[in-house]
Amino acid sequence: MSLRRAERPISAFPPHVVEQIVTRAARPDFDRWVDQVTRCGHCAHPVRLRGRVEHRIATGAQMTYSTDGEPDRVLLIRCGNRRAAVCPSCSYEYAGDMWQLLYAGAAGGRKGVPESIRSHPLVFATLTAPGFGPVHTTRADRSGPARCRPTQGKPKLCPHGRPTWCTAIHAEDDRRLGQPLCPNCYDYCGHVAFNWHAPELWRRFTITLRRTLARTAELSAAELARRCRLSFVKVAEFQRRGVVHFHALIRLDGPGDDYQPPQISIDATALTDAIRHAAAQVRLTIAMPDGPDLVLRFGAQLDTQTVNGGPARELTPEHAARYIAKYATKSAEDFGLGPRRITPEVLPLLNVPDHVDRLIRTAWELGVHPAYEGLRRWVHMLGFRGHFASKSRRFSTTLGTIRGERRTYRQRQAAEHARELLADEQDTTLVVARWEFAGVGYLTSGDAALALSAAARAREQRQAARDAA
Ligand SMILES: [Zn+2]
Ligand SMILES: [Zn+2]
Ligand SMILES: [Zn+2]
Repeated sequence: MSLRRAERPISAFPPHVVEQIVTRAARPDFDRWVDQVTRCGHCAHPVRLRGRVEHRIATGAQMTYSTDGEPDRVLLIRCGNRRAAVCPSCSYEYAGDMWQLLYAGAAGGRKGVPESIRSHPLVFATLTAPGFGPVHTTRADRSGPARCRPTQGKPKLCPHGRPTWCTAIHAEDDRRLGQPLCPNCYDYCGHVAFNWHAPELWRRFTITLRRTLARTAELSAAELARRCRLSFVKVAEFQRRGVVHFHALIRLDGPGDDYQPPQISIDATALTDAIRHAAAQVRLTIAMPDGPDLVLRFGAQLDTQTVNGGPARELTPEHAARYIAKYATKSAEDFGLGPRRITPEVLPLLNVPDHVDRLIRTAWELGVHPAYEGLRRWVHMLGFRGHFASKSRRFSTTLGTIRGERRTYRQRQAAEHARELLADEQDTTLVVARWEFAGVGYLTSGDAALALSAAARAREQRQAARDAA
């Protein structure tokens, strides 16, 4: 890595950062430092480890690797953050882990899930939120991209004198997308209430789905539970308008923990019907501070596709897994909000769109009411307090297991890496490693700037290689 190749001119950095970059580059161990940054995948906030590895070889001699010989006397290890906005390279790895988990649950034959899982009914479903008022959107019809909201009949203004139509064909990066045609007509309270209660609405959906399945199989709820278990994994995704919807893989298993087939005759098509029925039926009545109760439900737009053997239009386990893993690295950062709590006072500094500004102010105001206690801590998530990715207990292996495997692998890698640095790498019989935590992140802003530009370059190279292929 050379400074000349950093995509940002060095003069663009503040003087003290330039000073730090130059100091780093001038050190005799600079190449070794670059090597470490590359090895930890250009992580944005690497963990710094200090330690030593001892090799006792057959002859009785002892070789030792120690981080004392490394730049800053540390070894850099990935931070492992899921959010793309916090650490692009680790979120990439997180998505990979999620994919492993999902793929194991969909296709089986790995990570302790038997291949026979492929015969279980499995459906990929997207449950959306209802409308809270018309927003600018992208649409397509048979001839290609279509107008946002064409007039139906005589053009009509809303009570606030704004058009209720939009004839634009919005580009994908149009700032208006997801923004209401009239903010005064838009139901901000209903929108925030939906995000806040979405986890409970999902829970009710799973209960309703079990009841529906019992009715389909003509069994009592208790008997269904004895013969069949509902397993699922779901991710929450923010739509452009700032409301969450859920993508889920829903599977039927037998009782017990060993992935046996369900003991009822419900196939993937019948499971799809039950999901559609339950999603349309489920309701959650909630008290609103000023005014009548609000009845929450999922939107009429509901996508379902069966996975595994069946009609040609269905998803493969690979595609289903990739689709869900992709969403697991996203969060509310697309709206210009960070991962931390905020208050309305800081809003003007964040330069968020008007729509997001109104959502946050609405959430803040709702938060004073006892029924919405705690909401103020979640305004940076537009009121959504659930987990971005969650699964039922036996859908598949766990992220923890996958990470554990990788950690073992990394420790072995670190030990191997240490051995590479030792002169004699033969006849190693015993490795004793001892690591301790030295801190998180790069030591200076200059180091971070160097690592980030190297990461950007690595991504470009990957992309160029993909384009060439
Ligand atoms: Zn990282
Ligand atoms: Zn529009
Ligand atoms: Zn209006």
